[in-house]
Amino acid sequence: MPATIIDGKQVAGEIKAALAARIASLREQGIQPCLAAVLVGDDPASQKYVASKERTCTQLGIKGIVHRLPSTTSQDELRALIAELNADASVHGILVQLPLPGGLDEKDIMERIAPGKDVDGFGPVSLGHLVMDQPGFLACTPHGVIKLLDAYQVDPAGKHAVVVGRSIIVGKPLSLLLLRRNATVTICHSKTAGLAEVCRSADILCVAIGKPGFITADMVKAGAVVIDIGINVVTSGALRGDVDFERVRQKASLLTPVPGGVGPLTIAMLMQNTVLAAEQRLRDQAQR
Ligand code: NDP
Repeated sequence: MPATIIDGKQVAGEIKAALAARIASLREQGIQPCLAAVLVGDDPASQKYVASKERTCTQLGIKGIVHRLPSTTSQDELRALIAELNADASVHGILVQLPLPGGLDEKDIMERIAPGKDVDGFGPVSLGHLVMDQPGFLACTPHGVIKLLDAYQVDPAGKHAVVVGRSIIVGKPLSLLLLRRNATVTICHSKTAGLAEVCRSADILCVAIGKPGFITADMVKAGAVVIDIGINVVTSGALRGDVDFERVRQKASLLTPVPGGVGPLTIAMLMQNTVLAAEQRLRDQAQR
């Protein structure tokens, strides 16, 4: 039987609907959550992602501000903007759209975002909280993957989860979240030997490598849950995931499509983190 196709739009819609009540409650207390996005350069994919985040902010009643900077922006200029946004009490969340143009040091910028405003969850404090199993901002895409598994009643406990990709924004935090849910986790990367065999041993296979159709049906165990995180623009202009969707759907039990799978969750979790940041600020103010 072909796999059930996971409906990311529906799950994201439910998360956003649940946020509406929290946003209304904040507004009653005189607060509108505010997300400041920083977009450097003119990468078309980045522009699209930021526009989509801006639209979702508007839909939900979150204030979205976009700082568009030229690709010639220097590290010091970007640092100065982050310092300004950190100091601005009306801003609850700061998002720097990655990748930054070549020559800019992404890690330096991530480290400079105030931990209380790190709604992307890429900063060292947020990642440290994740490692220590403490509350904090969770990276949006990995958190979205967990929400999808929950929505489709996939309990990772005791299962073998294989994560292909070890980036700071997807693979590493996702591996830690699966571990937190008691999966036995294997992390793979470009130097992994016998990748196909490792993938075939996965009950839950999560792929974030950025290579269209890379995971073929022979790399998937019959009945596995396959989460395709990749977003690749192919020559026709269409979006494709890292998984050979048509063939893998004949083998997997559950499969995410691209687009419409993990992508919508990433934005929903960003909105959730922004609301959380505003709520936390309110609590901090009440305690002072
Ligand atoms: P990175 O380029 O930062 O990381 C890619 C990872 O894949 C690296 O760890 C790399 O290994 C590994 N890799 C590359 N080639 C192979 C290979 N042949 N075999 C095994 N591992 C390999 O990418 P990101 O994590 O930023 O993004 C990955 C994909 O996810 C992209 O398509 C991106 O567009 C998408 N994405 C989607 C999001 C969403 O909302 N759905 C959000 C973020 C990203 P090594 O470390 O050894 O180099």
